[in-house]
Amino acid sequence: MPRKTVIIGGGAAGLGAAGGVKAADPGADVVVYTEYEDVAYSPCGIPYVHGKEIPDFERLFLAGKQTYIDAGIDVHYSTAVTALDTAHKVVTVVGEGQVSYDTLVVATGFNYADPGVPGGDLAGLYYVKNIRRAMEWDKVLDSVKKAVVVDASPLGVEMVTALAQRGIETHLVDPYPWPLAEMVDPDIMAPVEESWGELGVVAHYNSTLEAFLGDHSGHVRAVQTSEGELEAEIVVVCTHKEPNNTLAAKAGLKLGSTGGVIVDARMSTSASDIFAAGDCVEIPHGLTRVPLQGLTGSHAYAQGKVAGANAGGGNRAYRAVYVPWGTPAGKWVIGGASFGETTATALGIPYVVGTAQGISRARYYPGVKPVKVKLLAEPGSLRLIGAQMVGQEGIKERADFLAMAVKFGFTLGDLATMENVYSPAIGALNEPIVLAAQNALDSLKRR
Ligand SMILES: Cc1cc2nc3c(=O)[nH]c(=O)nc-3n(C[C@H](O)[C@H](O)[C@H](O)COP(=O)(O)OP(=O)(O)OC[C@H]3O[C@@H](n4cnc5c(N)ncnc54)[C@H](O)[C@@H]3O)c2cc1C
Repeated sequence: MPRKTVIIGGGAAGLGAAGGVKAADPGADVVVYTEYEDVAYSPCGIPYVHGKEIPDFERLFLAGKQTYIDAGIDVHYSTAVTALDTAHKVVTVVGEGQVSYDTLVVATGFNYADPGVPGGDLAGLYYVKNIRRAMEWDKVLDSVKKAVVVDASPLGVEMVTALAQRGIETHLVDPYPWPLAEMVDPDIMAPVEESWGELGVVAHYNSTLEAFLGDHSGHVRAVQTSEGELEAEIVVVCTHKEPNNTLAAKAGLKLGSTGGVIVDARMSTSASDIFAAGDCVEIPHGLTRVPLQGLTGSHAYAQGKVAGANAGGGNRAYRAVYVPWGTPAGKWVIGGASFGETTATALGIPYVVGTAQGISRARYYPGVKPVKVKLLAEPGSLRLIGAQMVGQEGIKERADFLAMAVKFGFTLGDLATMENVYSPAIGALNEPIVLAAQNALDSLKRR
């Protein structure tokens, strides 16, 4: 009998897992359950379609349904799993009853946190996630003149930019003093805030959401905040991502402090033959060991591949993370690796810092863009522990590199003397990372 792996979830983690099982055991039966009508689309592209930078939603589909049939992966669409019985190794599936498994992967992803204020059931509150709903909402956006975005989370930042670029009067309501305040430093966000101003965004920082207010037809008409009432034809709710773990919790899988499923390096859960991956799990930060939940689609996909490979009888490991990240924000791109000053301070991690304002190409080459790099290093050893950047090009590549530099213990000295590509159209003579490391070393010498 072939091994049968059931996967709950058809997002990045679930599909990564399906491929992982097949790679480890091509003869395995692989069944994927998803509550959605589709798999294999990129939710990451949705804000860019709303912002009219990507012309249509069809481009976000990465593979058709036939691709999975051809690969021997049996995807059950619009099908919810309602229970998991770890003792008898069965799941309960709506419309199918009890379905047995040899190995199981939980990849149930995330939910946006409930804003927890009155009016949450009004029409006109948009939670950006499912592509079919996004297509419907995109038509609504055609006639919207005024919108409110709740919370300057990573998605909030993308949606503020998208709506403003679409010509909608966009108000941002956020309880913190600057956007992404829990992870990004204020000096990195300052140019973004300025560019939002140029795009007509009205930001309400230090402002707490108190209620969604409705009209007589039950549609949102405004949000009540600690600063007063803000009119809104629609509200995009971008609260933080929470692990969607109702099923896992009921089945008794051990959850960690973030609410994410606890997994070991093989992505095994506390229950035998059950693996988990993606936004429903927590993974330790490589330096601090602080558990992190709700990372990115690329983390979810890579974790899914490992979970799937092991569910298929393989033996792969997924290690602690150093979190390279990046996103366009207003007219800028922000990014980094590990953490910045705000997080280091909050966690009581001592650091020395070096900052440089560099450029992305030769200073005379058309289209040259500014690149600001900030490096954090451990006092004494001067090992890199984090980095943050704001610029207009080359941020992603630097973030990926700097995450590896943190992981492998590069020091400020290593970075200050690193070789770099100089070619007028693609790179400046002085690499901004080198300048930031050198500035840190110079300021330490002056102390
Ligand atoms: C608008 C948007 C923009 C994003 N932008 C980026 C980006 O720029 N970069 C990036 O790296 N990532 C991005 N992401 C990815 C994202 O933040 C997550 O990290 C990623 O979606 C996690 O994948 P996942 O498979 O763990 O979970 P999800 O994508 O949440 O998938 C969960 C799956 O589980 C299914 N499911 C849940 N419960 C059940 C059940 N009981 N029965 C059956 N099926 C169930 C759902 O139907 C779904 O298929 C974006 C996501 C969104 C929505």
